[in-house]
Amino acid sequence: MRVVLMGPPGAGKGTQAAVVSGKLAVPHISTGDIFRANVSEGTELGRTAKRYMDAGDYVPDEVTNAMVRDRLAAPDASAGFLLDGYPRTTAQVGELDDMLAARGTSLDHVVELTVDVDEVVARLLARAQEQGRSDDDEQVVRRRLELYAEQTAPLTDSYAARGLLVRIDGMGSIDSVTDRILSALGG
Ligand code: ADP
Repeated sequence: MRVVLMGPPGAGKGTQAAVVSGKLAVPHISTGDIFRANVSEGTELGRTAKRYMDAGDYVPDEVTNAMVRDRLAAPDASAGFLLDGYPRTTAQVGELDDMLAARGTSLDHVVELTVDVDEVVARLLARAQEQGRSDDDEQVVRRRLELYAEQTAPLTDSYAARGLLVRIDGMGSIDSVTDRILSALGG
């Protein structure tokens, strides 16, 4: 199964993706996690990405697309994947379609987690304190939410028009949200 998980920063995508990918037996591919791993390892990709991430901006499409292209070419992604945090821009939507079409495949579902914005800001600020993520201070959090609303939320309309989108209420306990996602995916 080839699934994209979308939702604003703080919607709980990472948490849900980890559980849902396990149930579906597909790899969880998080662009944010791959960037953060590169930042910790001090790679060139990490140095480039960090400049954007720390400001709450999107890493440029060319950089992100090349990284996802590589990751999806790995053998473990051939039978399916759960993509978390990608695509986030119109150009990325087109790239992903092309990458899959080149292999004669396509997306099965796009899941959008919907949340209350005030709740999300509170969650992100709490996470900043717990995990010390350098992109979780209030100003940067607001910037990330703005970018999501401007550039990423509108992408769900095009997926809806293609009949791929399922909107899931992301509020409530972790388990109840997981159950909603799995039942929407027919699992
Ligand atoms: P969140 O969903 O909380 O913003 P992520 O871990 O998904 O957290 O992403 C963290 C940061 O990584 C983003 O703010 C952005 O800078 C960068 N990033 C992740 N995915 C992408 C993407 N698809 N395109 C551009 N930048 C990305």
